[in-house]
Amino acid sequence: MDKPFELQFYECLNERCELPTSVKNRLARQQVGYEGHLDFINILRENLPGHFLILNDIFYRLPYKFTQIDTILITVHAIYRFEVKNLLSEFTYKEGFWYRKGERLSRNFFTQVKRAGEIFEEIIQNDGLYLPVESQLVFINEDDTVKIFDQENVSPYLMRWELRSYLKKVVEDSRGGSMNPKEIAKYLMSKATEGHLVVDVMDKKLRALARSGILCENCDSWRVDVISRRYHILCKNCGRQEPKQRAVLRTICDYGLLYYDRPLTKSSVTEFIGEPSLEYIIKRTLRNYFELHSKGKASTYVNPAKRMKFAFKGEEFRYYSK
Ligand SMILES: [Zn+2]
Repeated sequence: MDKPFELQFYECLNERCELPTSVKNRLARQQVGYEGHLDFINILRENLPGHFLILNDIFYRLPYKFTQIDTILITVHAIYRFEVKNLLSEFTYKEGFWYRKGERLSRNFFTQVKRAGEIFEEIIQNDGLYLPVESQLVFINEDDTVKIFDQENVSPYLMRWELRSYLKKVVEDSRGGSMNPKEIAKYLMSKATEGHLVVDVMDKKLRALARSGILCENCDSWRVDVISRRYHILCKNCGRQEPKQRAVLRTICDYGLLYYDRPLTKSSVTEFIGEPSLEYIIKRTLRNYFELHSKGKASTYVNPAKRMKFAFKGEEFRYYSK
């Protein structure tokens, strides 16, 4: 699974500036959440037959509202919607409120999961479809950190150790089902939108502090020499050499991620990279790798708003890093 858009954004920002502590903490929480989500997907794959389909980190938009769904599982019998929490510190739920280490929280995981479900079901029903949808809030944390003391206003939830038997039941319930998971997945994907088109990152102002230019792929240093080698850039900090073509594509992607709300243009990318000797490679890279938005005086390209390793998976380059 690709890293969620916001996590990619903050990781990219973190490489390019000193983040305030509160933002660093949020980044750390998102990393923990992502690890937990991967963990959950592995448990699903290990316990379910291969023809059940799993969709992850999907966004849906309705006028004036949107929702993000961690995991959708499609069997031959039903659709299951999972929200996954990896809560490593002590969380308790009692009398309708969540507490973290004893401190009452304003957010409520149960309400969040219910609201997301309402939007999801509204989208499906707008098409006149009445697919059975079951939702579960999953606490994937390995340790017993989450305690739910009463069942007031809870929505269905599962602790990690309950997953295997739950999934066994999912398989049993699917017997005799006649839905086509591939068709349903195709339909659900056709209704989805990209995270960066609906999410507005809370701290996007911080990107004004982000250092521009190419950073070393190995050590994030900005002290890179783009002139002395013909096909590579050279990191003056760690000695790493990366093909220029790759470094340019990687940096265009990072620029696009930080400025996810703008299209890519040759002038903005060239300015961000700030190396006149790379201008030709930048122009060629935009032309070869990115989809043209519109023709005209200033060509603009569709911004994938993803880091290179997600936007161009498995891309081969003529030269290797060394
Ligand atoms: Zn380096």
